[in-house]
Amino acid sequence: MGNWEENVRKVVPYVPGEQPNKAHMIKLNTNENPYPPSPQVIKAWEELDMEKLRLYPDPACGILVEAVAETYGVKPDQVFTGVGSDDVLAMIFLTFFNSKKPILFPDITYSFYDVWADMLRIPYEVQPLDENFRIRMEDYAKENGGVVFPNPNAPTGVLMEVSDAENIIAANQDVIVVVDEAYIDFGGCSVLPLIEKYENLIVVQTFSKSRSLAGMRIGCAFAQPKLIRYLNDVKYSFNSYTMNQTSLALGAAAVRDVEYFEETKKRIINTRERTKRELAALGFQFEDSMSNFIFAAHPTVRAEEIFEELKKKDIYVRHFKKPERISNYLRISIGTEEEMEEFLNSLKIILANGRG
Ligand code: PMP
Repeated sequence: MGNWEENVRKVVPYVPGEQPNKAHMIKLNTNENPYPPSPQVIKAWEELDMEKLRLYPDPACGILVEAVAETYGVKPDQVFTGVGSDDVLAMIFLTFFNSKKPILFPDITYSFYDVWADMLRIPYEVQPLDENFRIRMEDYAKENGGVVFPNPNAPTGVLMEVSDAENIIAANQDVIVVVDEAYIDFGGCSVLPLIEKYENLIVVQTFSKSRSLAGMRIGCAFAQPKLIRYLNDVKYSFNSYTMNQTSLALGAAAVRDVEYFEETKKRIINTRERTKRELAALGFQFEDSMSNFIFAAHPTVRAEEIFEELKKKDIYVRHFKKPERISNYLRISIGTEEEMEEFLNSLKIILANGRG
């Protein structure tokens, strides 16, 4: 036996939510949008020129970067795009988190952060959320190698006020602060305008949730041009053509259709608010969510039992066994009105049986 194993980069990978492929199921486990992409995306798809696939895509992602910049009122040199915000975040970790000091993020948060940190050998220190699942600003005032947190946080759904986020950004001007706004469109206020004021801020967003394009894999980052240049340098040193022609064209069509975006967002928010009321009436406990999911626990019936029983009915929600503090919670993505109705009806039966 040779010694090659000694030189393997051994990692414990991130575990994404299940992607079952059943004709009839209610899928509330990966925070996808229950509505189809904009009709403009369908049109752009139909207009795709297959002959062009023999060519490499634009490495600068021009049409998408311009569409994002126009929609958000920033300059194209303030925008970076990638293969989902996972790709964008991984590039950010690689580019900006190179200090010997630990980067900071919450103990209950997006479970990809520690995976990237481990893989890239970035030291990190998790900061506990308070008893109401809130990020404590004062924990981020110590010396560190960088800061990253989602707003709203995931999987809790808890939103931080812009002024609180600004405090963290302002207190950390010697390092890069990344605000992961994967769920910001469902009722939160973005820190995006702050990129003009803070050279150390990167705002990350995704097309997977509010723009119904999880399957296309599109994400973006906003920051001052200097930071975007550093990001592109690393990207071009890794893989120049991260985004394919199809995602560039469909992403541009999606981001330009502001009307459809506003309409589907509103529908999801309305369904979420109704679902909150129904869950509360069933005895569930949860912090107020400003995202497209609700993170809830029942005082008498265990999360794992509810999860398994729902699964038997082909209703999928997400259950995290770790950390211990959240092991009795379920993360329930917001589906269509009809899907949530069916989910709630099944839940009522499960709870009635579970109580004995
Ligand atoms: N950030 C957070 C907080 C998320 O929950 C997700 C979704 N798993 C992502 C980033 C990545 O999303 P995507 O790669 O689909 O853009």
